[in-house]
Amino acid sequence: MNLIEVNKNHNTQAKCLKTLEQLRWGKNVKCTFCDSNKVNTIKTEQGRYSCKNCKRSFSVIVGTIFEETRLPLPIWFQSIALMLNAKSGMSAKEIQRNFGITYKTAYYMCMRIRVGMLMPETKLNGIIEMDESYFGGKARSQHKIPDNEVSLANATTKRGRGTNKVSVVGMVQRKGNVKTKLIDKLTKRNLLFMLKSNAKNDNSILMTDGFKSYKELETYIDRLVINHSKEYSRGIVHINTIEGFWSYVKNGIKGSYKAISKKYLPLYLVEYEWKFNHRNFKGNELEKFLKNALFQEKELEHWKAQSPKQVKQIAYGNE
Ligand SMILES: [Zn+2]
Repeated sequence: MNLIEVNKNHNTQAKCLKTLEQLRWGKNVKCTFCDSNKVNTIKTEQGRYSCKNCKRSFSVIVGTIFEETRLPLPIWFQSIALMLNAKSGMSAKEIQRNFGITYKTAYYMCMRIRVGMLMPETKLNGIIEMDESYFGGKARSQHKIPDNEVSLANATTKRGRGTNKVSVVGMVQRKGNVKTKLIDKLTKRNLLFMLKSNAKNDNSILMTDGFKSYKELETYIDRLVINHSKEYSRGIVHINTIEGFWSYVKNGIKGSYKAISKKYLPLYLVEYEWKFNHRNFKGNELEKFLKNALFQEKELEHWKAQSPKQVKQIAYGNE
């Protein structure tokens, strides 16, 4: 994406509002509260409308990642473009330096932009690779990382147990999208829940390594196993795509963010998922992002932990 062009087309609040309005409403402005199209323009306030039906006033940013922001929209648009362009990630510190805003404001905006990258739920199918990875580990003494943060200094140990290690399960469709989820305990039930929530089992085949908890997944889907103690790949049987994704994420986090909190790790993963899933995208990525962000629920569904009851129900059905 060309920053000069982004800047040229979105260098004023009015131009940004117009783009958002077109993407959200097309030609017919709709009340953000009651969906009525009986609205008046409020002449004294740019981009504001009043609804004749529910009597409330609104602008296009109500209910979106931009809601209640005091930052000019051109700064948002350029930050979005910078974040989308940064292949390995862009920290709030860098955004702060680029625009001369406070760290707190930059951080808040970056997190909201990541929320805008959360893609609608779709189920993977075809050849699907599944693997887990561990984030965090023992911090070096000179860079002490607080308990609630994940250091990525020693994040490569597979299946290691450590007090502040976080396990993340990832699934990728060959030549398709990736999906990740933080799973505290890699039990058969939790893995089956992840699989059923994110993959179709008809005309699909799962590839995993020999980790024994994956065996249970055969109750739902056909599975081929690559035994890493013997070989790295056997024809089409491998999990190279998902392993490539893990190194992409880890290199990116290490280079751009150093350490991030466990609580917000899912949001950073959303950012890397977006980048991976758009790796071959050729169109207008800013527009693609804005469309996604405008229709995205503010609440991150997979941010919230499911109750054990919900997990059991999805994993094993209503038996
Ligand atoms: Zn209304």
